[in-house]
Amino acid sequence: MKFPRTVQRFLIGYLILHLLAAGIFVFVLSWITRNQMMVASKSKMSAMTVLLAEQIGELEGGLENESLPDLVKRFGDKSEMRITLIKPDGIVVADSVTGDLDIGPHATRSEVLEAKENGFGFSQRFSSTLDQQMMYFARRVDSDNELEPGYVRVATPMDVINSSIRSIQKYVWLFAIALGALTALLMSIFSAKHMQPLSLFSAAARRIGVGDYQASTNLSRRPDEWGELGDAFEHMKNELTVREERLMENSQRLEAVLSSMIEGVIAIEPNGQVMLANGAACEMLKLTRPEIVRKRLFEIIRIPELLDSIEQTQEKRTFSKTEFETLTKPPKTLSARVSVLADEKRPGVVVVLHDVSALRKLETMRRDFVANVSHELKTPLASIKAYAETLRIGAINDQEKNLDFVKQIEFHAELLNAQIQDLLQLARVESGEGAFSISDVDLNLVCSSAVEQFSRFAEERGLELKLDLTNPSPIARADAAAIETMVKNLVVNAIHYTLEGGVVTISTSKLAGEISAEDGGSAQKTHPEVAIRVLDTGIGIAKDQQARVFERFYRVDKSRSRDMGGTGLGLAIVKHLTQSLGGSVHLESQPGKGSQFEIRLPGA
Ligand code: ADP
Repeated sequence: MKFPRTVQRFLIGYLILHLLAAGIFVFVLSWITRNQMMVASKSKMSAMTVLLAEQIGELEGGLENESLPDLVKRFGDKSEMRITLIKPDGIVVADSVTGDLDIGPHATRSEVLEAKENGFGFSQRFSSTLDQQMMYFARRVDSDNELEPGYVRVATPMDVINSSIRSIQKYVWLFAIALGALTALLMSIFSAKHMQPLSLFSAAARRIGVGDYQASTNLSRRPDEWGELGDAFEHMKNELTVREERLMENSQRLEAVLSSMIEGVIAIEPNGQVMLANGAACEMLKLTRPEIVRKRLFEIIRIPELLDSIEQTQEKRTFSKTEFETLTKPPKTLSARVSVLADEKRPGVVVVLHDVSALRKLETMRRDFVANVSHELKTPLASIKAYAETLRIGAINDQEKNLDFVKQIEFHAELLNAQIQDLLQLARVESGEGAFSISDVDLNLVCSSAVEQFSRFAEERGLELKLDLTNPSPIARADAAAIETMVKNLVVNAIHYTLEGGVVTISTSKLAGEISAEDGGSAQKTHPEVAIRVLDTGIGIAKDQQARVFERFYRVDKSRSRDMGGTGLGLAIVKHLTQSLGGSVHLESQPGKGSQFEIRLPGA
């Protein structure tokens, strides 16, 4: 049987107290018994001395009588006492134990001295004759025949009393120990049975502590205090369950709200430790949640603008705003709004982050674009202005040159017009205005009409324009006008950037169905794509320029482009159009050897 520790302690305490009580009882009992036995022995000895004194008094010659030694011996043996007769001068005339042996004068013994004085005397001391602790009772013998009186003394060994007391003590101790053991045993059985529910409570409490709310003591039906406690325990458990469920619900709701937010949210405790950070905040700062939560913010984010803003908010108890660049790669521009979280002495704060990188990039692009546009438009305008001025100040009368000047004005006006048209088209594509009319477009047809349209132009520049069509004709799901614009831009470029004697080939093809993962990679679909390629044997484009030629106003050779009447927007328009139609544009080129532009579009 396993005793609860409380029961063990109680039993040990009980046993100590029990033994202490038994000890006190034994001591008191021994003391009383000893006193009573001594009183009894004393009166027995007194009676004996009275008897002997009377006998001696009646004898002839008193203490000198010769029959006394025998008498003393007989009385001594029968009464188990030592009897001694002492003369007034202390000489021992008879002794029931020592007999004739000379045991020296006894006049100075305390009991004899006392008897001399009072008639009787008692003492308790060690006997050197018998070598043990003795009780002595002496009585003065007063004789009628005027003989000198003497003393009768009886002695009993203390051992008799001591051994009686020892045996009483032994039995009392044995009884006390047996009683103690029996009581302890009964008590332990009883209390172990009675305290058993305690272990049920501690087991149930331990299970509840680790979140197992099914744990129960099953004691609520007991008709005693344990039952009441069990009832209270069940009630407490149910309350706890409800509260935990409510807390969980709240925290799940909060979690759901925070994780569905596009804005990053970081809550910071007054001591600067991060209390909570949502997924968006982790993503923006490129940190995992364990790297942020429960850490000091200044240890993980070393951005002075943000830290200053937090400090300011804590001090002034107002909200503040800041914008900063993250130290991630690539860096992001984040705008932070910091507000006070609670009304404490040094309050916590909540930081709401917005990723404004795209916005800022767009703003920069727009600024650059406006600057580029004005610069690009200024150039032909300046030329027109210069030629017009030259004509005005006199060249109009120069019959040889005035026509050339007018032609230059016309050329630059044309360029200006082309630039404005291209800009408008680009703006339309980008804004999604003038939605495409999607239909099945026969690519062979588009390419054939392009060759028809530009063959004369190619011829004029000493180039051969070839067609390489796939049959049956690849059909694209796209906007016909957009494809025409793209082909036109690519063919014009090919003609512009190919030297005399070169060849420009326009070809169509169907691409093998490409496998692309969709719906997060779970389902795989085949997308048949169709392509138009414009291949030339021209000047080519260096590797490092190849991505840039699709940027607005980017030209490898500015003056050559301008001489050709190029706007610098042709490829930007191609790129935007293909992307808007769900396709892509690819460039392969080697300087001095030629270039190939390929437009891929979704097939019908
Ligand atoms: P542009 O009006 O100047 O031709 P584009 O956007 O059409 O503007 O082209 C951008 C630049 O790309 C051109 O200035 C030219 O340097 C280069 N480029 C375009 N097509 C070709 C080509 N077929 N061969 C070589 N360079 C080309």
